[in-house]
Amino acid sequence: MNNGKVYLSASKITAYLSCPHKFRLRYIDQVPTPNQTFFIVGTATHAGVEAIHIGKSLQDALTEASLSVDAATSKEYDNALTPAEINDLVRTLVTTYHEQAIPLKITAVETPFQIDGNNVVLTGTVDAMVEGKTVLEIKTAKRAWSQPQADLQIQPSVYAFGLAFEKKLPGPIEVIYRVIVKPTKKFPKGQLMELRTIRTKEHFDHLIATINQVGKAVSAGIFPRNVTPACGWCEFRRLCLGGTLPNYDRPDGGSVAGYRDVSGATAENGGDSE
Ligand code: SF4
Repeated sequence: MNNGKVYLSASKITAYLSCPHKFRLRYIDQVPTPNQTFFIVGTATHAGVEAIHIGKSLQDALTEASLSVDAATSKEYDNALTPAEINDLVRTLVTTYHEQAIPLKITAVETPFQIDGNNVVLTGTVDAMVEGKTVLEIKTAKRAWSQPQADLQIQPSVYAFGLAFEKKLPGPIEVIYRVIVKPTKKFPKGQLMELRTIRTKEHFDHLIATINQVGKAVSAGIFPRNVTPACGWCEFRRLCLGGTLPNYDRPDGGSVAGYRDVSGATAENGGDSE
């Protein structure tokens, strides 16, 4: 809250819809948690891809990505991978993007927007714009995405709405997702997928209704727990559930029904990310 208004972004809306209590712990109480490896990988890969988008060489892009990894791993993080392993993975992902991405006419990178409503302010930063009218978003993922996965995300609606408003673009707005899938046995260098999804006035109307509902609930201090198997990779699981589920997070590392060992859990297998 700021000036009596609730500030929301795609990540915040997604967090509230998945679990209002998580929203509160993360954004209102700001409970500190160690940085997560999947987030470090995503941020560093974005840095490398952004360098490619503005015309830098692959070598310069890899340097940008490595600097991002070094900065993040010099602070406390969850240690799911060593800094060298993270660096190797990120370099592979950036190289895969460089080798496999079909060049697009990128007209802007890291474009911020802010829409000031009566009670809610919607903010965000779009990874890149293509030909001044199409949103380009970059994701890293453990597994390939499906078309419904792209179509049902709230993030494209937020970004398309933000750009349509800020740049006075007529709808509908196309959003291109480029998903860099991590190396597998079948694709040892990783794989680049491209999915396209369209956002129309109907999507924007639905988004506005959702934003207003979330904004009202946050203003009213409504933050119930939403206990589901997804709690297994929530960064607040111990704080939130440790006292109420006595067998949860057993010292022997086992899991209990409905929950599982969370070591190695990533955004791609269920957690949400920025
Ligand atoms: S552990 Fe579950 S209920 Fe608790 S904050 Fe996280 S997602 Fe919500």
